[in-house]
Order: sequence, then C-alpha cells, then structure tokens
Amino acid sequence: MHELSLMEAVRDQALAAAHAEGAIRITVISLRVGELAGVEVEALRFAFPVAMAGTIAAGAELRIESEAAECHCPNCDAPFPAPHGCCDCPRCGAISRQLLCGRHLRLLSLEVV
Ligand SMILES: [Zn+2]
Repeated sequence: MHELSLMEAVRDQALAAAHAEGAIRITVISLRVGELAGVEVEALRFAFPVAMAGTIAAGAELRIESEAAECHCPNCDAPFPAPHGCCDCPRCGAISRQLLCGRHLRLLSLEVV
C-alpha cells in the first residue's frame, strides 16, 4: 500500500524531529498534501495509526491540509491554478510545464510534549 509507505516516511521524519527536540510524545502531526500528489486522504488516515503504532507518535492526532496545484506561465510570468496538472494558461493560452506546487506530501508541523 502506497499510503502506508508514505506514512512510514512521515513517521521517520517526525520521530527524528521529535527526538532532536527531546520530546517524549508526539500529540499532533500536520501534513500538507498536494492535490496532484496521487494519494488518497482516506487511505492516509487509515495508514496513520498503523505506521505510528509502538512509537512515541502512537495515539497522535493527524491533521491534513490540502494544497492546490499551480503552474507558472512563462508568458504572463504569473501562476495559474492547475487542478489536473499543467496545461494551458487561462489568460494567454500558453502551455506551461512548470508545476510550482501541488505534487508533494510533506510534514508541516508537529506538536510534542
Ligand atoms: Zn499566460
């Protein structure tokens, strides 16, 4: 399951960050998921307790924020929304292949004690 391996990567990153702060428990993990990241939020929520079991993040709350995808138009030198990946600029019709954001899943913040 793709989402479980993503969650395991998030867990490793979160545990390393918590360890660096000397935390004894992680209470909240916030993620930002791009709309083009190709992950199912429901599957992430399902994978979360599985990945966190047996660590200081067990029982933590998962918060997921979604990130809209945007492309950069070289003609207009401005971003435009691209919910289905890069395509034509709505202003000038130029085709852009420069995806600025929306493709990644990343760890946004942690709350620890
Ligand atoms: Zn344009």
